[in-house]
Amino acid sequence: MATEFSGTVVGPGDAGYDELRSVFNGMIDRKPERILRCRNAADVAAAITTARADGRPISVYGGGHGVTGSAVIDGGVCVDLREINHVEVDAGNRTVTVGGGATWGAVDAATQEHGLAVTGGRVSSTGVGGLSLGSGSGWLERTYGFTCDSLVAAEVVTAAGEIVTASDDSHPDLFWALRGGGGNFGVVTEFTFALHPVGPIVLGGMLLYPGFMAKEVLRNWRDFMLDAPREVGGGVALITAPPEEFVPEPARGQPACGVIVLYVGDPEEGQRVLEPLTSFGPPAANLVGPMPYVAVQQLLDPPNPKGMHNYWSGDFLESFPDEAIETWVDNVQPPTSPLTQMIVVAGGGAIGDLTDDDTAFGNRGAPFNLHYLSMWPPDPSQDEVNIAKTRTIAAAMKPWTTGGVYLNFIGDEGLIRVEQAYGPEKYARLRKIKRVWDPDNVFRHNQNIPPAD
Ligand SMILES: Cc1cc2nc3c(=O)[nH]c(=O)nc-3n(C[C@H](O)[C@H](O)[C@H](O)COP(=O)(O)OP(=O)(O)OC[C@H]3O[C@@H](n4cnc5c(N)ncnc54)[C@H](O)[C@@H]3O)c2cc1C
Repeated sequence: MATEFSGTVVGPGDAGYDELRSVFNGMIDRKPERILRCRNAADVAAAITTARADGRPISVYGGGHGVTGSAVIDGGVCVDLREINHVEVDAGNRTVTVGGGATWGAVDAATQEHGLAVTGGRVSSTGVGGLSLGSGSGWLERTYGFTCDSLVAAEVVTAAGEIVTASDDSHPDLFWALRGGGGNFGVVTEFTFALHPVGPIVLGGMLLYPGFMAKEVLRNWRDFMLDAPREVGGGVALITAPPEEFVPEPARGQPACGVIVLYVGDPEEGQRVLEPLTSFGPPAANLVGPMPYVAVQQLLDPPNPKGMHNYWSGDFLESFPDEAIETWVDNVQPPTSPLTQMIVVAGGGAIGDLTDDDTAFGNRGAPFNLHYLSMWPPDPSQDEVNIAKTRTIAAAMKPWTTGGVYLNFIGDEGLIRVEQAYGPEKYARLRKIKRVWDPDNVFRHNQNIPPAD
């Protein structure tokens, strides 16, 4: 068992402590007893072992984008992976090995040098760790599946402080659980993903419509996506038009509807395929064109700055009929905060190439995935109204939901909701695997799956 720690220990009062303990969601203000900045898997093993010996609870900091703020823990030990951020592309074998604390921006940049990619987060600062373990939804998912579908192997530091490899051939149960089971089963210090041909130039971007057109735009988009080829990815966000030059002056600051598209393939062919979307309108702004895939991956960076207050929830939809679209738009508009983004992304395509039993992540048959993303400036007096609005929207959409939820999109909604994400059988299997790998529930500061009794 490793006991040597070669990283840096940062505690209250030390330089950088406040910055290091900050996370994406500005509502979170937690003070770990110490932050252990690990450099490698042996450091992580030592961090876990010493925290356990000291009786301290543990949190794991990947990219700090978990909206619950589970990367940091009051009075506990924060196992900080941010310095384990290597990204090594093996273009010949079409794989990439990625440190557990890397961000998607770094992965996209390195893999795109070879015209390759793996489904990654839609905001480049998001951590590979939490996103992939939660399964990983991204613009490429209809073409190449969720991120976890491309996972080939993971180096895992267990609750016992051991370093193991999980893959189809090595601890297959653990490997199955890592693909959607979140941070429950160990700390992943290295992911190996299969890569796929993408770009580097793709057809992508956004069509922006005035808010009053949202219902007809959504109906057209829904009809198109239900039959769209798997090369098409995308979603629709009900937002407030930003005060940017590309937005016509009168539309700025007004409710708006943004249709985000990506065509993975020849951009010219993409123009033809996407015509039913791009010819609809006219939009207030048409920003769809050939562009680098990395630019598509950064489209949503500006509206998602660190430090804002966030309250999120989500639901998979069984269907998205006209009545559901009416309810959606009527409840979302006008937004309580101009930073809020209420998003629907389309399922289908490669997501269904695996079955629900193949990975811990399920809900593969859902045609749409709703993400209630409320965001507002860091002013506590605005918390209540924004949280209440999010809950009202979620309640209104219940009639069309599957009962399943995508855990990466939600805050802390309790154990029941975690069980609902997996369904009873899969949840029971996950609990048994948890009992093998983490019987004391050391990794519980997360969307927790308690060990089976
Ligand atoms: C701006 C923004 C955009 C997002 N976009 C997407 C999106 O497009 N698709 C999507 O699916 N999700 C998206 N998410 C949600 C995101 O995937 C989850 O919040 C995820 O947990 C973030 O991972 P992280 O490593 O950055 O977070 P952290 O807060 O560091 O980690 C969250 C939890 O994950 C676990 N964890 C993290 N890394 C590891 C590791 N290496 N080993 C073991 N456990 C680990 C830990 O339990 C940790 O508490 C987005 C979130 C934000 C804030």
